[in-house]
Amino acid sequence: MQHAAEIALIKGDGIGVDVSDAAMAVVDAAMQKTGAGSLAIREISAGAGYYQETGNDIEPDGEAAAGRCDAIFLGAIGLPSIRATDGTEISPHLRLREIYQLYAGIRPVKAYPNAPQRLADPRAAGIDFIVLRESTEGLFYSASVHNRSEIIGDDEVRDTLRITRATTEKLHDFGFKLARKRKQRGSSGTLTCVDKANVFHSMAFFRKIYDEVAAKHSDINTGYSYVDAQALDLIRRPWDFDVLVMENMFGDILSDLAGGLVGGMGMAACAEIGDSHGLFQPAHGSAPDIMGKDLANPLAAILSGALMLDYLHEKGASEKLADAARLIERGVEAGFAQNRIRPCEFSGDMGTKAVTAEVIAQVNAI
Ligand code: ATP
Repeated sequence: MQHAAEIALIKGDGIGVDVSDAAMAVVDAAMQKTGAGSLAIREISAGAGYYQETGNDIEPDGEAAAGRCDAIFLGAIGLPSIRATDGTEISPHLRLREIYQLYAGIRPVKAYPNAPQRLADPRAAGIDFIVLRESTEGLFYSASVHNRSEIIGDDEVRDTLRITRATTEKLHDFGFKLARKRKQRGSSGTLTCVDKANVFHSMAFFRKIYDEVAAKHSDINTGYSYVDAQALDLIRRPWDFDVLVMENMFGDILSDLAGGLVGGMGMAACAEIGDSHGLFQPAHGSAPDIMGKDLANPLAAILSGALMLDYLHEKGASEKLADAARLIERGVEAGFAQNRIRPCEFSGDMGTKAVTAEVIAQVNAI
């Protein structure tokens, strides 16, 4: 049978397994509904559990096998109780990000009816924006996994924030195109550059490249914000934003803050996209405290599955995959609106399986 696309599936550890199964079931139901056929799944063993069994964090040739597929879907990797000999947590995911240069980290932030809203202002119901986080350089250039910190005895440690023209041009171009796609669906069509250009040369460079790239996208509104002011505005008026582009560390912090505005980690979908590869995963970890208890909220993974279907369509797969993505988004929205999605994560009565079944029922009912 001809498949619509081939996916590398890394379920990983803890609730990563449960939410991957949930996402694949919903993706399959939506694809059946639109007549898109089905995905071929190449499952790849990786993670802390796999490391404990074998001494390796991913199966032999696993990175290359993942790279040969049309997209990578990852549940969650890492368990605090299982660590490499140097004490670090198991994280082949960071290697995949590095190997395939997945520079564009997309974190959608959207308020759903009846899901927790942390702001009293009724306009919070209209929160719908994206944090676009550069994911290969910035301050994470020095992250411990890369071993690039300058350690001067026991007296001083220096971490470098790196901004390159090559990556930043691609990032901003990606941001403007993303804002255009959202504009076509009714958003304001605005890409806001979040930086600290008033203090750092690296950030002034980031903004300068933003301006250069903006000149090629005159149909999209531009905006500027210093990261400290942006943190304030994400609490004061988050409903005013569309796409926010920023370096790695700023994105790490603001995307968690933003996720908190609309619920919790169980709603935080994520895509990491490079020139030729895309990886999709819920932004949360393996949550060992709730693993194996049917308590995990699978919606972050399910919504990441929708992002993956859009990506596959953009890479050349049938339009029906994009239709399937819209079905999933509408199914989640309708389930919340009817108060039929009540995840345990938000003190509701529905575990992983029940939420998944409800989203599938909604998809089939549309
Ligand atoms: P990592 O460092 O791997 O990102 P973490 O230690 O920051 O992971 P997570 O595993 O993301 O933590 O989760 C933190 C807590 O949030 C969990 O212990 C769990 O209680 C809760 N949590 C995370 N994801 C979910 C989910 N999908 N559903 C319900 N609760 C969740």
